[in-house]
Parts: sequence; C-alpha cells; structure tokens
Amino acid sequence: MILNRLLWRGFTKRCAVCGQRRIFRKWFTMLERCPRCNLRFERIDGHLTGALGINTVVSIVVVLVVGVFGGVLTYPDLPLAPLVTSITLVAAVFPILFYPFSKTIWTAIDLRMRPLEPGETEPGFGDWMKAHPDS
Ligand SMILES: [Zn+2]
Repeated sequence: MILNRLLWRGFTKRCAVCGQRRIFRKWFTMLERCPRCNLRFERIDGHLTGALGINTVVSIVVVLVVGVFGGVLTYPDLPLAPLVTSITLVAAVFPILFYPFSKTIWTAIDLRMRPLEPGETEPGFGDWMKAHPDS
C-alpha cells in the first residue's frame, strides 16, 4: 500500500519517493534535494512547518506518556522530583532526536496529500505511487 511505504520511509528517515537514506548533511540539516530522485524536499514555501507541527504533537504525546506511565508505576508514592526531572529531560531531548524524522514523516504525509507533479523528480521515480493507488 502506498501509504504504508510512504510512512515507512518517513519513519526511517528516508526519501519518501525513492527510499534514499543519505538525505541529511547533519542531524538538523536536510539536503535541499534528494541526491537520487532529485525531489525538492521543501515542495512549497513553508512546507516544513508541518514537520514542526508533527514534532510538537509527538513530543507532547511522549511527555504525557512518560508522565502518566511514571505516575501509574509509582502510585501512590509519587517520587515527585525524579518524575519531574524525567519529564523535563524527555521534553528537552525528544524533540531534538525526533527532528529529522519529523521532516521525513511530514514529507511522506505531504506526498500522500499532494501527489507528485510531473517534473518534481527525475523521470521514472515515483511511478510506483501512481501504479499502486491506495484503496
Ligand atoms: Zn529520493
């Protein structure tokens, strides 16, 4: 299924169109274009605002899970200082670790919502998206 392949590639920090792995120069620096299929990752101005949104939402969910899980596991003697420290650490570190994934996941979601236009990639790349429409 097209959505599964797109999301899998997004979750594994790869180009959603061709599966290329090396699309980041550094942890925070995504290449402008995929070196294999030539997809421009920022497809429209402000494209990566969606990645910021995904990073924020997922980070909040992870912080909530850590807080609730920590509270449930230690109930009724909540170790407040360790729990607050854990939540703070997760809130500070997780968005940094998740940052590149949020970009590739957002690119995959964007490709699902706005399919490739002709000329966005080198010829032959992305044909599988048209050949296997999601049902
Ligand atoms: Zn690519």
